[in-house]
Parts: sequence; structure tokens; C-alpha cells
Amino acid sequence: MEILNAGGSAGDRIIKEPEMALFSLEHTSNCDVRNCGFPGCCKMRIIIDHAKAHWSVDEPNNCIICKNFAKVVRKHTQYCFDENCLVHNCNILKSKISAIEAQISVAERDRRETEMAEKAKEAGLIL
Ligand SMILES: [Zn+2]
Ligand SMILES: [Zn+2]
Ligand SMILES: [Zn+2]
Repeated sequence: MEILNAGGSAGDRIIKEPEMALFSLEHTSNCDVRNCGFPGCCKMRIIIDHAKAHWSVDEPNNCIICKNFAKVVRKHTQYCFDENCLVHNCNILKSKISAIEAQISVAERDRRETEMAEKAKEAGLIL
């Protein structure tokens, strides 16, 4: 319960300082120093530990800490190309996103092919 409370206030801070959160997320995910002096590292560790225990990409929950954490990780995945990234759930999210993007581009291609076929038909009618 104490951890939840501490995480709660740190979670609030994530909303107010998203860039800082992103910075700490990337630092803390690669940091194994106890009592590390990096600003926000200890707080971020509490949040990451919470998210590791609580947040699953497949089962979104209404926990404010997990939601905020997910937001920061999503932001991170937008420019992360590291296949061995240590950020929690980064690789899972990236593979999900690329699966969705693949679906979209297939749908987009189908749509264009249909459009082309229709245009060709129209052109055929004109000719
Ligand atoms: Zn650190
Ligand atoms: Zn949670
Ligand atoms: Zn990453």
C-alpha cells in the first residue's frame, strides 16, 4: 500500500513532466545502481517495479500509475529501434505496433487496388 501511495505521487509527476519521465525511464531501465543519484531514478524504479508486477499490454487496467507508465513507454517506442531494448514492454509494444501498421498498409493496398480497378473499369467504359 505504501508503494502504491508513493508511486501515485510519482505517477502524477509523470503527467506534468513527460520529457523528464522519458529521460528517467530510459536511464532507469538500463541502470542497476542501488540508491543511484540520477534525478528521478529511484522514483522511476518504483514505477517500473510496479508496472512489471501490474501492467500487461494485453490487459489494460485503470491504474493511474500503469496508465502513465504506458503513456511514457509508448512515447519511447516512437523512436526506439533497439531490438534488445531494456525498457519494460518496449519490445512487446513495438511488435504490436508494427503488426498494426502492417495490417493498415495491407488494408491501404487493398483499398488502392480496388480504386485502381474501378478507375480502370471507368476508363474502359469511356473508351
Ligand atoms: Zn540510475
Ligand atoms: Zn498499476
Ligand atoms: Zn525501447
